[in-house]
Amino acid sequence: MQTDGWVVVGLDNGGNKNNATVLDASGRFLVDELIESPSRVTEGPDVAIEALVLSFEDVLRRTGIARERIRGVGLDTPGPASAEGVVSARGSTNFAHPGWRNYDFRGALEKRLALPVVYNNDGNAAALYAHYQLFGPLAPQRASISAIIGTGLGGGVIEKGQVIKGAAGFAGELGHVHIPMHGLLEPGQPLPHCNCGFDGDAESVASLTGIEKNLLPYWLGRYPGHELAKAESLAKAAKLVRAYGENGDPMALAVFEQQAKAVGRLFTIAANFTDPDAYFVGGGVVEAERHFREWFLAKVRENTALKEEQARAVRFEVVPHLDMAGARGAAIAALERVHAR
Ligand SMILES: [Zn+2]
Repeated sequence: MQTDGWVVVGLDNGGNKNNATVLDASGRFLVDELIESPSRVTEGPDVAIEALVLSFEDVLRRTGIARERIRGVGLDTPGPASAEGVVSARGSTNFAHPGWRNYDFRGALEKRLALPVVYNNDGNAAALYAHYQLFGPLAPQRASISAIIGTGLGGGVIEKGQVIKGAAGFAGELGHVHIPMHGLLEPGQPLPHCNCGFDGDAESVASLTGIEKNLLPYWLGRYPGHELAKAESLAKAAKLVRAYGENGDPMALAVFEQQAKAVGRLFTIAANFTDPDAYFVGGGVVEAERHFREWFLAKVRENTALKEEQARAVRFEVVPHLDMAGARGAAIAALERVHAR
């Protein structure tokens, strides 16, 4: 094991937990397991910054890395924040404490640690990790898109190994891209609505929120007497649908087929937009039993319209180690920044 080279640290800040990792200059992760600690974001920025410092110190202690060896830090957080890591003035679910509004999260951590900090949102960080994990040394020459199905639909767009952030930091907001609904919705199925205000965007179908608000209310009506109709709430039922899908329940499969169609249509837009080398799917729907994961991925591929030339070499993959992908992607971004300097 290398003992004197420089390293970078990746810090993934979530609603409940921080997760930390260390990456050496050769691109090797020095942490194999999930190292979590409380993120305390609900208590406001001052407390949360100190919680991140504890997470940082803890991962150094566990890996036996001296502080002098660290050249940079990668930070990722849930959105919405600017490309430079300034939290939205409107706040968000994760940053509800008033102290977070317009808070320069990246700048504050940089000052506190006295180390350069590179910022990405969590979807972009996970997309970056998936990209580097698949392409290895060829990553800087490849393009990919990742769609990560969680409460919302996150992910990112990678071009030549770099996250596309856009002018205001909103590039790669895949969930709010409008997709064609013709042939996706059943006759008479209402147009799905998204929290962002749009109707018929990708997240309105391909997210847990989409299942709760749009898909289940419709499909439970088509399957009267379904066990899930007895659930305490649609929110609770939505979380149970995947287990039904894994067991081959026809209603659950109808729900997930619509999600796969939505992701496939989103990828079809990407195919005509950036024409990536790889399409990644992440989230609960693929962190599932193998047969179900493969069924879902095959459905996504089936619904992604590619030209013959594109279809020849393209890859459809799962975002690996999703629980660690944020911290690892954040660390990769920090490593790339050091290399660029
Ligand atoms: Zn939306």
